[in-house]
Amino acid sequence: MATPNLHVSTHPAVLHKLAILRDERTEPKKFREVVRELSWLLGYEALADVAVRPLEIRTPLEPMTAHELGERIGLVPILRAGLGMVDAMLELLPTAEVWHLGLFRDERTLRPVEYYNKLPDSATVDLCLILDPMLATGGSATAAIEVLKKWGAVSPVRIKLLNLIAAPEGVEAVSRAHPDVAIHCAALDRSLNDKGYIQPGLGDAGDRQFGTGRAD
Ligand code: URA
Repeated sequence: MATPNLHVSTHPAVLHKLAILRDERTEPKKFREVVRELSWLLGYEALADVAVRPLEIRTPLEPMTAHELGERIGLVPILRAGLGMVDAMLELLPTAEVWHLGLFRDERTLRPVEYYNKLPDSATVDLCLILDPMLATGGSATAAIEVLKKWGAVSPVRIKLLNLIAAPEGVEAVSRAHPDVAIHCAALDRSLNDKGYIQPGLGDAGDRQFGTGRAD
């Protein structure tokens, strides 16, 4: 299936940081740092088409017309692994709002279950950025997009998905259900295993950030 809305970064800095993230020896502290750095780089690329409006300012030498971001942007981190991407995005977009969405994956059905939703009452936004490090089956991403669209994030409001690593299965599921949603990721991996983990991937992005799930 053609996926024109998929953007896979080829930036050398992204490739370098991905290796650190994937390496099983990378401890949670370093892992969180690299999630943050990669999110910043991916966010930078994903925001390249955001509208700006003129802003009159004075430099120490003279007045000039500069620019400011012209879109209202909402960040939608998917709990809990998406939390690690929020700070970097707020550095890029200090005026963005953060609307947490709690979706966990039922390990039996591999389907998403919504347990937390902090979207505001009205959809006063131009662009929603869904933050989730892993796009695996696409179940959570599709569910999050459906929640946003039902809430009012429909054209001309745009939705973008920011993932660190995507699996072809997830890209296909999202692109089929929501061809209007752009997917930005740092890597497109080979496949999913029978437990729904991305291969080669990096393991469980939540566990690796928060130090949970270790056998010892
Ligand atoms: N979620 C993760 O954290 N890792 C995967 O490989 C798939 C889903």
